[in-house]
Amino acid sequence: MGNRIETLYREKFASSAAHYEKARTLFPNGVTHDGRFLEPFPLYAVKSEGSKKYDAEGNAIIDYWVGHGAMLLGHSHPTVVEAVQKQMLLGTHPGACHELELEWGEWVKKLVPSCEMMRFTNSGTEATLMALRVARIVSGKTKVIKFAGNFHGWHDSLIPAAEPPHGQGYDVPGVTDGVFGDLVIVPPNDLNAVEQAIDEHDPACVFLEGNGSRWGVVPVRKEFLQGLREITARKNVIFILDEVITGFRVDRNCFQGVCDVVPDMTTLAKVLAGGLPGGCLVGRADLMQALAYENPLGKKMKHPGTYNANPLSAAAGIAALEIVATNEPSNHANAQAAKLRGRLNDVFVDKSVDWVAYGDFSATKIHPDYDGPRPDSDDFIPFDNDYLQLDRGFGKELSHAFRCALLLGGVDWMGWGGSTSLAHSDEDIDKTVSAFDDAIDLLKEDGLI
Ligand code: PMP
Repeated sequence: MGNRIETLYREKFASSAAHYEKARTLFPNGVTHDGRFLEPFPLYAVKSEGSKKYDAEGNAIIDYWVGHGAMLLGHSHPTVVEAVQKQMLLGTHPGACHELELEWGEWVKKLVPSCEMMRFTNSGTEATLMALRVARIVSGKTKVIKFAGNFHGWHDSLIPAAEPPHGQGYDVPGVTDGVFGDLVIVPPNDLNAVEQAIDEHDPACVFLEGNGSRWGVVPVRKEFLQGLREITARKNVIFILDEVITGFRVDRNCFQGVCDVVPDMTTLAKVLAGGLPGGCLVGRADLMQALAYENPLGKKMKHPGTYNANPLSAAAGIAALEIVATNEPSNHANAQAAKLRGRLNDVFVDKSVDWVAYGDFSATKIHPDYDGPRPDSDDFIPFDNDYLQLDRGFGKELSHAFRCALLLGGVDWMGWGGSTSLAHSDEDIDKTVSAFDDAIDLLKEDGLI
């Protein structure tokens, strides 16, 4: 990293620097999630409220991580906090069925078009793991089709090809050849490639990440989703839509509601549990029967899980979904992100940098190596949506310095993307735009752009 950014960063975030020294002795790379790794050290938050998080120095940072997508309502929404506090006093784990799981399940069924029946899990990773196993049990087939760049959690079966580099084979350390061999990877947004792959491999299922690779780096449009639904229905292949990010975020009825498509099964997490841990698989009742004892398939998928539908997550989830159901959170977050994308593109032109902001719904992506036509509407996708151009690394030094430079301006940006919430105000957007302006100056000063 160039000198100026690092010097200022070390000055401003001294308590985080001290914490990181200890962290490095405890955790590989000093972090508990790969994405939080930041050089020279990450930010340590002591509190988060509304659109902001705060460190020990009292720096107020406008947050675009939004709890890795979970905090659509903003941090510490009072209704959610109250619901969790109330449940805390009633018990955190009765080791029994409980009323809150019914209420939570009813909200999900009401809001998600593809939900006939469901099972709760602890995370999105567990939900996609369950979806895949159910698809194999029901279909009696093995292979799984996924799209290059789509992320479905970190379990062995779906982690390969979740990120670039694309187009040169995928290195999958720790995943056996057998497991990797069961995966068929096709380019995103290519219906012909999917149809061919289905004919060639006779798969158990096709997985797609709702609105595209890793929170929309390579956007998926309605027509593609509808085409994929048509092909999988015609070929009798189970279609699983991973809405762990998009579920309840892009719209109260999820991406499937926006596109008017009903997948066979859907995976959900994040907003579902109001900021506490939780996930679920929902889908057609005949498929979900694979989880039942003595089902018509004659084969049951085993599903324990100590914290499934735990009452704290259920309480938070019910409180959150009740607000989500108004659609105010999605509408507001989407509108604020559209404003931000437009304003950032103006800054990039003013500053004469080869950067572009794009994205859908509440997500904004930055591509820092783009000199093509400027966006003419908020639907614009750079490089005509060529995934090899959109979904690639941008250099470690620049990537870390960019995040640090934005933090200096009071903005916590999630790598090259960020997302808004119900709590992001116009004032936050103004401050964010000027933080980008300043960050670009600093990056130029340090010779990084
Ligand atoms: N699917 C998608 C689309 C995701 O974005 C994520 C998490 N970012 C997962 C699955 C995994 O969810 P979790 O982190 O809750 O395991």
